[in-house]
Amino acid sequence: MNTHTVFARRNFIAGLLAALAFLPLPHTGRAAEIKVELQPRRTWDFPKVGVKFNNEFSGARLNGVEQTGDHEFTLTINPENRPINTSPWYAFQVGAAEKQTVSLKFHLTYRGTAALPKLSHDGVNWTRLDTNAWMLAGTNRVAKLTIGPRPLWVFAHEPFGLKPLNAWMDAKAKLPFARGKIIGESIEHRPLRQFTLGETANANFVFIIGRQHPPEITGTIGLMSFVDTIAGDSQLARNFRKQFQTVVIPLVNPDGVEHGHWRSTLGGLDSNRDWAKFTQPEPRATSRAISALAKSPGARAFLFVDFHSTGEDVFYTQKDDEPTFPKDFTKQWMAAIRARFPDYKFKRDAGHNVSQPTSKHWAWTTLGCPGITYEFGYNTDRALVRKISAGAAEEMMKLLLKEAGASAGK
Ligand SMILES: [Zn+2]
Repeated sequence: MNTHTVFARRNFIAGLLAALAFLPLPHTGRAAEIKVELQPRRTWDFPKVGVKFNNEFSGARLNGVEQTGDHEFTLTINPENRPINTSPWYAFQVGAAEKQTVSLKFHLTYRGTAALPKLSHDGVNWTRLDTNAWMLAGTNRVAKLTIGPRPLWVFAHEPFGLKPLNAWMDAKAKLPFARGKIIGESIEHRPLRQFTLGETANANFVFIIGRQHPPEITGTIGLMSFVDTIAGDSQLARNFRKQFQTVVIPLVNPDGVEHGHWRSTLGGLDSNRDWAKFTQPEPRATSRAISALAKSPGARAFLFVDFHSTGEDVFYTQKDDEPTFPKDFTKQWMAAIRARFPDYKFKRDAGHNVSQPTSKHWAWTTLGCPGITYEFGYNTDRALVRKISAGAAEEMMKLLLKEAGASAGK
């Protein structure tokens, strides 16, 4: 083949590729369902100052980096779609060839306030940035950070993504009184996992779900403590498991967690506003799994709890005069939690978002039991979240055992 032929062939191929670029790509089922803007996963390299940023890990969110001074950078953080709830999530890694202090401006392209950065050198253990190093510049926040060769993770809230949550689910599903199951999959084919805790053939059910909203870490911490208490060794927990089956679906939106979303599924919708039409596979599979159990012969749903995070600690519930089975459970549960933790301030908001197609509203109207959204504050002390949630689980077990006509144990 002479040189001329090689060039001709190259030109032909280049022309063909250019022509193909304008043809619509065949849509796979998955790509067609993705309705959010995916962030490119990449490294931003500033060789003159030896500083690098990246978003190349599960749960990362960083959409752009621009150098604006010798040691100053502006970070762009976009939500996955608009309009969206103002709960901005960011997560990235930054490192420098030589130790230096940098100023990072957090530029959110949507309303909301960047949370005080949480810092980690291993992606597991973390500290909060000193509030003195977290300044206001116009409407943006600026963090002063000392960085060096060891990459530093910077997160809106502490890292608790797919890996640790899956490890926790693995451990729960292996308990002798647990049964694990895959109930469906997300748009990006991540399994939606359920496990059931119980040592009874009684079809008395408590349903617990979580992480419809990716940044809501304290909700996950609360859910884990709640479930760990039900799975624990206390006499109360053992008695409870002999009367009740607790069905747990801890991670309803795994794609959102993977992609560092502020709120949505990959389908671009708020999963907790889709519990009427069920256009998204994640809430659809979750509701179907719960309905199948709750509507099996002889079954009774006693309670549905969906764990979240927001600006404060609050239970969103039905009103006391709205009929539920068990009757008056919510009123008694709230009273028991207040009596147990007299110094702990939390709200109960009965009738919140009643017109919205949320999970709690679906649970109440479909299953007839109390449907409760349990929200922990983004900034509530983590040890307190664990303690209160464990206590709330114990008070729930006592009340439901009484309801089931069994002994609450010693
Ligand atoms: Zn939420």
